[in-house]
Amino acid sequence: MKPFVFVDRQIPPEALALLAEYCEVEVWDHQQGSIPKDLLREKLLKAVGLMTGGRWINEELLSQAPRLKAVSTISVGYNHFDLEAMKRRGVIGTHTPQVLDDTVADLTFALILSAARRVAELDRYVKEGHWKSGDGVKLFGKDVHHAKLGIVGMGRIGEAVARRAKFGFEMDVVYYNRTRKPEVETAMGVQYAPLNELLAVSDFVVLLTPLTPETTKLIGRQELALMKPDAVFINVSRGQTVDEEALIEALQNGTIGAAGLDVFEKEPLEQGHPFMNMSNVVTLPHIGSATTQTRNDMALLAARNMVEALTGETLPKHIVKELK
Ligand code: NAP
Repeated sequence: MKPFVFVDRQIPPEALALLAEYCEVEVWDHQQGSIPKDLLREKLLKAVGLMTGGRWINEELLSQAPRLKAVSTISVGYNHFDLEAMKRRGVIGTHTPQVLDDTVADLTFALILSAARRVAELDRYVKEGHWKSGDGVKLFGKDVHHAKLGIVGMGRIGEAVARRAKFGFEMDVVYYNRTRKPEVETAMGVQYAPLNELLAVSDFVVLLTPLTPETTKLIGRQELALMKPDAVFINVSRGQTVDEEALIEALQNGTIGAAGLDVFEKEPLEQGHPFMNMSNVVTLPHIGSATTQTRNDMALLAARNMVEALTGETLPKHIVKELK
């Protein structure tokens, strides 16, 4: 008998076909809204595998899923996994690294350029009819090319951002990472700097660490105070890696110049949130990996991970490192 896998969102046909070859599959159409609790409980009771886009995998969910062996998330970040609870229950967790690196790096640059050259703000300015000849200096922005970029979290996506910065925009790149990476320094000509030094010297700071207990509010009031008054801060990691209240304050009182944000403490961002009225903040609805091609690739990899986890003789290649 094929193992039963529940998928809590629609996935592309190719990914579904792969899963269906090895597993009995049921899919919840998330465009109808979130799955009713009773229905989820019914599916979890028999699920051997769960494929998800970001559902909390915690003790409460695991206690309702007595047969569960594997959770495959269609994302590279897995801060929604309670790793201790999964370990206790022997549940494997997999994720989708690499296939999204270039797409997320492109989006990071979209935010850098948009915040520096005020693209979103000036698009509204034109469309709302404010453009007059002789506007001149009030439309000026900040150069990206040849500026100093600080990358906090030099992982797979961080490296893809560094490549674009060095070889596309001829930027001077410094990075801070938990583990120093001499091979990346040599290959790309980037320099390591302690976090406080990176913050003080960078024109642009990009945050790209995973969300963990150590990185929660990694950038707070003290760190923002170290940055240049015209620095641009970009967050593509997770909203909780930044103290959002401190960031709002820093942007309002000129401690830093501007921000480009794809992620927020609470998503979706609510109407009335201070960011909504700040012209020096570019806001995006958590779309780092959201291109059709990359989302298809991620779903296919997540399906492959699930099949490997349930039918393979060894641990799946993309098991999250804490559960190896
Ligand atoms: P990765 O390859 O694991 O890179 C993360 C890097 O952060 C690693 O080099 C790691 O260092 C470093 N790091 C971890 N904890 C740290 C700490 N306390 N201090 C300093 N550095 C630390 O991950 P990735 O694939 O590049 O993805 C990074 C994150 O981006 C994901 O976890 C996710 O949250 C986010 N993301 C967001 C979107 C979006 O849609 N906005 C899309 C994709 C990813 P070590 O080498 O020591 O482990």
